[in-house]
Amino acid sequence: MNQSKTVNVLAPSYMQGFQCVGSACVETCCSSWHIAIDEPTYRKYQTIRIEPLASQLRQHVQLSSEAAKAQGAYASIPLALGESCPMLDEQQLCSIQTTLGAEALSSTCSDFPRIYVHDGQRLAMAASLSCPEAARLALADEQALDLVELPLAFSAQRPPALHRRRASAGAQEQDLVRRHGGLLASVISALLRLHSLSAEQALVYGGLILRRVAGLAGQEFGAAEAALEQVLEQFLGPQTLQRAPELVAGLSVPKGAQFSLLLAASQRFMRDHGGRASFRALMDEVSKGLELGQSPSHCLARYEQADQDYLRPFLAEHPHLLKNYALNSVLSSVFPREGMAELPHEFMELAVRLALIRFYLVGLAALRGPELSVDDVRRTVYGVARNIEHNRRFLPGVMQALEAHGALRLEVLATLLL
Ligand code: SF4
Repeated sequence: MNQSKTVNVLAPSYMQGFQCVGSACVETCCSSWHIAIDEPTYRKYQTIRIEPLASQLRQHVQLSSEAAKAQGAYASIPLALGESCPMLDEQQLCSIQTTLGAEALSSTCSDFPRIYVHDGQRLAMAASLSCPEAARLALADEQALDLVELPLAFSAQRPPALHRRRASAGAQEQDLVRRHGGLLASVISALLRLHSLSAEQALVYGGLILRRVAGLAGQEFGAAEAALEQVLEQFLGPQTLQRAPELVAGLSVPKGAQFSLLLAASQRFMRDHGGRASFRALMDEVSKGLELGQSPSHCLARYEQADQDYLRPFLAEHPHLLKNYALNSVLSSVFPREGMAELPHEFMELAVRLALIRFYLVGLAALRGPELSVDDVRRTVYGVARNIEHNRRFLPGVMQALEAHGALRLEVLATLLL
């Protein structure tokens, strides 16, 4: 008997209204990536005898390599860039779902864009903003990232597949970050929710705190814990917080270095891997806006002017756009998921995602001028999120390129973000 269960999960309020818009979607998730098939679903597909579905499944569902299996993709339907899922029928409906019902879908297909995470204490859910509809809802207003409890119904035979988990820290845990991961996550989220700081400033100020935390590596646990308390008191006391915008504004930001680092990392990726159609279209617009064929000093001048004249005023009017994106990333990546050794890299990944989105927005601002719109931000967010999530080489490639220039350090956060 198929028993159903319900649990309450923590989720951003925009999840209450999420519904896949199907054929009205501007960029469906059923194309251009390897659709992972979990082991129970793969085995079920082997038993299907209904034609033509059975033959299509045999033809298109491929067993994965051992490495991919270890990451949860037991099998997959591999799709080339621009290629749609071969299981879609003439009406663009999924033939597995229409023939066997939604319960026959792999967890990737039935869950997307929902991301289930466990923060060591409880189950939470957010959406991948690589889904245009999820991005539209998540960036709709300041309240969209308020956390609410939502009932999640699932079949007892098939509980929600966890995408990421922070291990719960036992009383004996001696890694400071593992022991206080929940606290550090709430510090970063609280900074992002402060009205006095923009999203970029909040991450830079959070980075200053985390740099001090990372500096406690190697200390005896009791002493490190006491020092952590002092660091938090020092940075989060009401008076220091009041001065935080001024402190961050006073950091020196070499815009030329920011421009060339983020441009070179993006161009290297485009040269080596091409990128998805929506990302290529975005890069074309950025390239036109910054007039990238012209001399480097001309492009840099356009970059600085568009940032100053159009993007900054626009983001000051709509501060929730980048804040909601960053809050969603903190929640869905379960930052910090690992321990002390991984803390700087994990945080830089969050920061680099925001820095890339901001960089492309400057390019769009150079093209659109005062016409830059909320819709441009939504499109940039889901285009970048999709390139990151559906192309495993994108973010590691960008991170490698930045590392090669010594830019992947908490010390250079301001250079990338402000
Ligand atoms: S990307 Fe989102 S809205 Fe579009 S088809 Fe997929 S789940 Fe539906």
